[in-house]
Amino acid sequence: MLPEFEELHLLIPGPTAVPEDIRHVMTRPMTNHRGPFYKALLAEMVEMAKQVFQTQGRLFVLTSSGTGSMEAAIANTISPGDRVLGISIGSFGKRFQIIAERFGAEVTPLDFEWGEAADPQKVAEVLEKEPPFHAVTITHNETSTGVLNPLEEICAVINQLPDEKRPLIIVDGISSLGAANLAMDAWGCDVVTTASQKAWGAPPGLAFIAVSDRGWDAVQKAQSPRFYFDLREYERYFVNKGEPPWTPSVSVAYAMHEALRQVLEEGLENVFARHARVAQYTREGLAQLGMKPFARGHYSPAVTAVRVPEGWSPQELRRRLREEYKIEIAGGQGHLADSVVRIGHLGKVTEADIDPLLEALARILG
Ligand code: PMP
Repeated sequence: MLPEFEELHLLIPGPTAVPEDIRHVMTRPMTNHRGPFYKALLAEMVEMAKQVFQTQGRLFVLTSSGTGSMEAAIANTISPGDRVLGISIGSFGKRFQIIAERFGAEVTPLDFEWGEAADPQKVAEVLEKEPPFHAVTITHNETSTGVLNPLEEICAVINQLPDEKRPLIIVDGISSLGAANLAMDAWGCDVVTTASQKAWGAPPGLAFIAVSDRGWDAVQKAQSPRFYFDLREYERYFVNKGEPPWTPSVSVAYAMHEALRQVLEEGLENVFARHARVAQYTREGLAQLGMKPFARGHYSPAVTAVRVPEGWSPQELRRRLREEYKIEIAGGQGHLADSVVRIGHLGKVTEADIDPLLEALARILG
């Protein structure tokens, strides 16, 4: 027997709360994923997503969580033995390194201390002194530490290399797209991914992956085995028939189409400004309660990681918030499990969503 469902005020960095109007479109009856309605929905979803990714390149919709899109990025562009520079500032940067290793890449980790952003100068130095890399993997927004990497600067140092030395830039934009500016084409990224349960306000189930022309060339040449995530199949079906190759998560696509429509209606600049504003409001409110951000600068507009006050454990603080105030925040990841909590403020979030948390924390911490 399931316990009775209890609606919590979700302030975790995904899945994010799904607004009522987005939930409503998911009650639409099922449709044939090879029929005219779904084809139109898919075409519009792809066009709208391209506007948010700021790309004119190819973009595919996968039925998977974000990690699936990371695996798709690696499987489609990397061959066993390829040299990969894995930039990491936390647990999701590490995940990219691990996936690339599993696909037989020769991964050189470039790890920065958790809480810091990647230093473009260090990236430039490594690229200068090491033999050429086939690809660089990087997380745009590191959800485990609440740090937004200076991706534009990092892309700039990579893209100034001569063509024969210039690696592909593979970006995990899973928790940044739709919350922070990521101008894929202008910055020169080759592969960028995101997932439906993050800044969009849609449920989990779909991932998006965009590929530049240079990235597409790598897709043709890569020798890694792939089937479900083979982007050549996605391209073939989409170009020839306007369809996905396999059965997609149709109801989540209903939601994601509406979520994208709403993001574009609000306007990208406004959406990014709102996220930055709410993030700052969250940090200031927490600081007044004596809770300092874990990040040392480069604060994320999507998630704030904070150390719990002396004498508190993240587990106890989260339990009190859930049981007494019906508020759900996330714990720390990896070695931060006993010292950090994380507050997600991505999606259709405003200051009014943060106030109940700040009030509850003020009461609990006394
Ligand atoms: N990368 C980042 C930056 C993330 O925030 C997440 C989800 N927290 C993932 C990857 C993994 O996504 P998923 O859980 O959807 O597989």
